[in-house]
Amino acid sequence: MRSAIVAACIAVTLFWWHGTPAAAGGTPGGAIVAIAELTGLIASVLVCAQLLLVARVPWFERSVGMDRLVSWHKSLGTTVILLIVVHVLGMIVGYQLIQGQTPWGSLVTLLHTIADLWWALIGTAVFFAVGLSSARLLRRKLSYEWWYGIHFTVYGAIALTFVHQVNAGVNFVGVPLARAAWFVLYGATAWTILWYRVIQPIARHVTLGVRVAAVVEESVGTTSVWLQGKGMDRLAPRAGQFFLVRFLAPGHLLTAHPYSLSLVPTGDHLRFTVGALGDHSSAVKHLKEGTPVLLEGPFGRMTADRARSRRVLLVAGGAGIGPVRALAEDLVNSGHDVVVVHRAHSAERLALASEFPDAPRLRYVPVAGRRRELGYDPLVPSALAGLVPDVRSRDVFVCGPPAMVDTVVASVRALGVPRSAIHTEELSLA
Ligand SMILES: Cc1cc2nc3c(=O)[nH]c(=O)nc-3n(C[C@H](O)[C@H](O)[C@H](O)COP(=O)(O)OP(=O)(O)OC[C@H]3O[C@@H](n4cnc5c(N)ncnc54)[C@H](O)[C@@H]3O)c2cc1C
Repeated sequence: MRSAIVAACIAVTLFWWHGTPAAAGGTPGGAIVAIAELTGLIASVLVCAQLLLVARVPWFERSVGMDRLVSWHKSLGTTVILLIVVHVLGMIVGYQLIQGQTPWGSLVTLLHTIADLWWALIGTAVFFAVGLSSARLLRRKLSYEWWYGIHFTVYGAIALTFVHQVNAGVNFVGVPLARAAWFVLYGATAWTILWYRVIQPIARHVTLGVRVAAVVEESVGTTSVWLQGKGMDRLAPRAGQFFLVRFLAPGHLLTAHPYSLSLVPTGDHLRFTVGALGDHSSAVKHLKEGTPVLLEGPFGRMTADRARSRRVLLVAGGAGIGPVRALAEDLVNSGHDVVVVHRAHSAERLALASEFPDAPRLRYVPVAGRRRELGYDPLVPSALAGLVPDVRSRDVFVCGPPAMVDTVVASVRALGVPRSAIHTEELSLA
């Protein structure tokens, strides 16, 4: 991916070089404007890359993993915002030097002379709002739905800035090949997103007719939702994977939520086990039988084929027990020796515990209680080694809230498990 982005940036730099008159470098103002144009072009390429990273392209997601794609998407976002700042300031300062005006005067002249710059200015303001809403401090204060709503406006911002690029950019006006390449870049990006995030889930709904088949309360704060559809096995879901699930019911329509399979998928049924965390997950227990469902996926790489050793340790925290339950069954069926450590705040919250029977190749270790009640952290190296003495010889799969995943990874690393034998799924993409 990195090489594809670098190649695209080099290509853009080459046609910027070709499209920029040599005289532009003759004055400080001209040189600054030219550099500002280049930063604008590179920012645009990176925005397309950002969108493609989260377009849910199945083969891409399977080879990299959605958590890493989302994290690349985020880090590119910071670069894009910085490049846009340089682009805007560079244009103002460059024209200020060329025309001998104040910065404010230079901005007014630019707005009057450059086609569609007003739209671009509005688009840029939206970009900044989106960037700001994703900054850690503000992100924590916003609900997921508000953050998502603000994020969604970025599509409008891209359209607004695109117009000024093709109508005013010196590299496009009068250069048909460059213009065509730009349309192809944006068109392909838009089509990929539309196909995988809108058309495919709807088409799938029409052909599979996925609906809620049953809703079952599993433990305090945990509910399983069974889905049924015709020919669901065509999706080829695997234990340990997740779907983005959108229930077509009031209160659930606006966002698709990631939920993992909590049973090895069979025939036309899938099961998800949902822990009540916020407004959406708490409302899942009120879903009615027959509610239509849109599915994107399956996604995720936390599958049995990643285990290199015959011995495996699975550590689940909170709602992480769903994928761990499915994965444990799959691993045992394929001949692995499995230990499951199930961490929960209280014994009543040990959802699906009854689904781990005593079996020759499966050991279930429930660890209930808050740290202050227990008087120690059961996931620190010494405690974990006490629970699973042969941890060093096992592949370790961890699924739960990010902080718990970090603790377990640090512990098993300290106990000598190599990085390549550790597989994680954090229950958060934010
Ligand atoms: C790969 C993956 C697999 C998951 N599997 C399960 C599972 O099997 N069972 C389960 O109970 N939970 C699972 N989760 C977590 C689940 O998606 C969130 O708990 C749920 O979306 C919370 O939504 P809410 O509106 O109830 O809570 P909110 O209070 O709105 O959100 C709580 C947190 O959940 C995250 N979140 C909320 N909405 C979304 C969304 N649409 N997309 C991504 N993240 C979101 C954000 O980090 C947010 O800060 C999984 C998460 C991920 C990333």
